[in-house]
Amino acid sequence: MKKIFLVAATVIATLSTLCASAQNAGTAICAHRGFWKCAAAGYSENSIASLREAQNIDCWGSEFDIHITADDVVIVNHNRDIAGTTIWDHNFADFKDFRLPNGEGVSTLDEYLTQGKKGPQTMLVCELKIQKDEEREDLMLAKTIECLKAHGLYSPDKVMFISFSLHLCKEIARIAPEFTNQYLNGKISPAELKAMGINGLDYQIKQFQAHPEWVKEAHDLGMSVNVWTVNDEETIKEMIDLGVDCITTNEPYLVRQLLGNKEIKRVAAKGNCCCKCCK
Ligand code: MG
Repeated sequence: MKKIFLVAATVIATLSTLCASAQNAGTAICAHRGFWKCAAAGYSENSIASLREAQNIDCWGSEFDIHITADDVVIVNHNRDIAGTTIWDHNFADFKDFRLPNGEGVSTLDEYLTQGKKGPQTMLVCELKIQKDEEREDLMLAKTIECLKAHGLYSPDKVMFISFSLHLCKEIARIAPEFTNQYLNGKISPAELKAMGINGLDYQIKQFQAHPEWVKEAHDLGMSVNVWTVNDEETIKEMIDLGVDCITTNEPYLVRQLLGNKEIKRVAAKGNCCCKCCK
């Protein structure tokens, strides 16, 4: 019995060491609204091309924003309006003539995820935007999960969630606790988030500059730490030194250059990729 206890204690200690060293081993890069700042993506944020380019340069993650239309279609867009037309008050058909700078139309989540599953080495970082009430947020979350499942992407190693909506983060913690779930509005300490069941934080640079101790506090609580949106050399270095797990950026090549061999990349699991070379 004593021997079993000792073996178990050794295993737990080894795993703890691995987890601790993993936290300090490097930093991941998340392309903010995809890798849009390049000719190949036509400088179009939240476009399918920007996701494809983030996948092509092997970003650890690629972030995108979603809303739900009045007729219950989940679409990819940052602002709550498209060319002045509020998304939650209008049907998807009302946006059919809109074009991004690269000529793409507004993507449905379904269309976006069709590209998403082509690059399993890139985590899909899904930002669920605040909606006009909690009922609409709940419907958007339910439809998002349904769509992820339909594409075979409803897995913690394929997608993670971020949101400014505390209601949505609490709901994700309740119905999908195995997923990385980061709160975006940086006014809540890691310990307070943890008490709500939320397992990560993705805060603006200035929040970590005001509370640098939150990075260690979060890590000690087993939470993940992401920072947005870090684009200049000085701040990138500051956030690397602070030990955040992931830097969300419009400049993935610059972050990559500054990280050198400390960049964390994901390795796609064999069999998940759609290309024949992995099968
Ligand atoms: Mg976003």
